[in-house]
Amino acid sequence: MSKPISRCGTIAIVGRPNVGKSTLLNRIIGQKLSITSRKPQTTWQQILGVITVNNAQMVFVDTPGWQFRPKKQINRLMNRQIIAALDYVDVVVMVADAREWTLNDDKVCAVFREMSCRKILVFNKHDQISDKKKMLPLIADVQARYEFDEIVPASALQRDNVDLVIELVGEKLPRRPHQFPNDQITPHSERFLVSELIREQLIRGLGEELPYTVSVVIETFRETNAATEIHAEIWVEREGQKGIVIGAKGNRLKSMASAARMDIENLLQRKVYLRTWVKTKNKWTDDLDALNRLDLND
Ligand code: GDP
Ligand code: MG
Repeated sequence: MSKPISRCGTIAIVGRPNVGKSTLLNRIIGQKLSITSRKPQTTWQQILGVITVNNAQMVFVDTPGWQFRPKKQINRLMNRQIIAALDYVDVVVMVADAREWTLNDDKVCAVFREMSCRKILVFNKHDQISDKKKMLPLIADVQARYEFDEIVPASALQRDNVDLVIELVGEKLPRRPHQFPNDQITPHSERFLVSELIREQLIRGLGEELPYTVSVVIETFRETNAATEIHAEIWVEREGQKGIVIGAKGNRLKSMASAARMDIENLLQRKVYLRTWVKTKNKWTDDLDALNRLDLND
């Protein structure tokens, strides 16, 4: 038998908030995520993970969430970053909610409409639809209006059709030698992953209460004999939001930080001391100095 063709390329997962992008990515990269680099990344454009399946090496890159209120400086900046990120990717995987297509989904489509990369649409959360036939008119409508190479109904949560997505992505990548050793999974900064785990718990704990205005900065990341010591600053936009994050008697922050600490221990496979502070910088999202400090603006 001849050797399988070597493929390699970059993939971005895009879509409006809450459609299941992170869940899908976690399912794709799954347990294979491992840390191989301690060098902090300097931009938000991160390599989230690399998997090699059937001799196709898939490099997943992060694009920060698309901002639908581009009035603020930070939101415009982030939208530009998405467009820049999409410029070099080989495959875009757009995630949408199988239950409803919104105007924001059209906005996401409009961003990469003119791009030459291959495009796959994942209609996620199809586990929430009992009669799958009900999805057909929506699929037909989207197919008629946009040029997707593939449209896949899936459930990231239940891992349904996730392998199909991996297979379809892999076969669309260009013929190229692999960029990473096949068993090396992610050249990722522990610091960044840790800040993401904290951010994840904040989003989980705060729900709709703090959209887009919370940010995590890792101030200290120190290995001691006994543990990894991490100090994290949580930045909010307004004084009033501090109380929301901290909660009555600090209970909300305590439980979010404790959940984050467990996730971090799981990730680093070490004992972790996590200390968190909530800080306010008025209108930091409109302040380019603060943006520079967050390495958004490389
Ligand atoms: P993101 O904002 O696009 O990254 O979305 P997340 O991955 O954070 O998911 C948002 C919410 O949708 C979470 O509560 C997930 O558990 C849930 N979710 C993600 N995928 C599925 C799915 O396939 N089915 C169902 N029922 N829920 C899902
Ligand atoms: Mg997400």
